Amino acid sequence: MINFANLADKYGTPLYVYNFDTITERFNLLKDSFKARKSLICFAVKANSNLSVLKHIASLGGGCDCVSIGEVKRALHAGIAKYKIIYSGVGKRDDEIEEALKKDILMLNLESEEEMARVEAIASKLRVVARISVRVNPNIDVKTHPYISTGLHENKFGVEVDVAKRMYIKAKYSEFLEPVGIHFHIGSQIVEVEPFREAGVVLSSLLRSLRALDIDIKFFDIGGGVGIRYENEETISLYEYAQSILASLGGVDVTIVCEPGRYLVGECGYFLTKVLYEKNNGVKRFVVVDGAMNDLIRPSLYSAYHEVELLNSSNEDVSEADIVGPICESGDFLAKKRALPKTKHNDLIVVKNAGAYGFTMSSNYNTRARVAEVALEGENDRLIRRRESFEDIIALEKDFL
Ligand SMILES: *Cc1c(COP(=O)(O)O)cnc(C)c1O
Repeated sequence: MINFANLADKYGTPLYVYNFDTITERFNLLKDSFKARKSLICFAVKANSNLSVLKHIASLGGGCDCVSIGEVKRALHAGIAKYKIIYSGVGKRDDEIEEALKKDILMLNLESEEEMARVEAIASKLRVVARISVRVNPNIDVKTHPYISTGLHENKFGVEVDVAKRMYIKAKYSEFLEPVGIHFHIGSQIVEVEPFREAGVVLSSLLRSLRALDIDIKFFDIGGGVGIRYENEETISLYEYAQSILASLGGVDVTIVCEPGRYLVGECGYFLTKVLYEKNNGVKRFVVVDGAMNDLIRPSLYSAYHEVELLNSSNEDVSEADIVGPICESGDFLAKKRALPKTKHNDLIVVKNAGAYGFTMSSNYNTRARVAEVALEGENDRLIRRRESFEDIIALEKDFL
């Protein structure tokens, strides 16, 4: 059991707490499920980009999937090997492409023909060969929140299969491009195997036709998207997930790359917040806490459900309440309509499964300092990001007064 009261005393609230042992366990489970093949697990940095988290991933032998040059630099800074770093994303600036090429990372994941032309031009200017993969949109409908579904024609991501094929052929004959990977990422928080199976079939078929054209694809990148249990969702069996991909590949010899974000870090994380006071307007009961949507925006942004627990409460006076933050927005809530015992000032509430897309999506809205982050390993806890101060927040403005 994690002693949240101790952590709150030691580091203050609101606070993010990550159990690194859970990350290790998840990483190994995923790695094991692909053990029949060569595989590379590239953690999606956007889910949780704390340097110590990335360093931990590096210690497990993992790589990183990045969606900005900033994330590439974070990964390198944390000790991720350059040949385990992928740079994805639907829009890359010239200077970002140039820097990624100079850093000689594993590959750039391309999402349009025009982007490929930019990469080729920049590689030619630098006199280097750019290793690339193409993100293919297999047009598969994934039952998840529309904001996190990415594999349909109507989404901005990837290119159609026939366009991808054209791009690979063009790349093969370019002096400055080397096609090494093929990629799909169909969405996030996916809790069934079927969409992965369907995407695997579409992409393996493209892979075979590329091989037939003598285009030597080495990396079969199946993206991320494996969901976790926030409420009572059924979750994917990793065995079936891996098997569905392996079956579609048949005997083709490729290294499987997978880009889990949420699956690796979602359940390792807790957001700890303190009760300020309760208010009841006769119609509704609100528990006002010191954490807010600027710290954890998933409930406001995606109507996401996070389990919440009031710690050390012996009060049996339970009723329905919304847990809300201090921000001046009606959308500022962490949980709605939860059965919660009567709370008192300074009671602790822990919001669970908050390790993915929590801190990374936080902001300074309402001039609130970004919170501290703490890692747990075995019996030990340690600070991995200090709480921001008011000075930190105004640092980039104060000299212009
Ligand atoms: C966001 C993203 C991921 C990770 O998604 P999860 O649902 O967190 O696993 C992987 N690959 C790409 C290209 C992404 O954009």
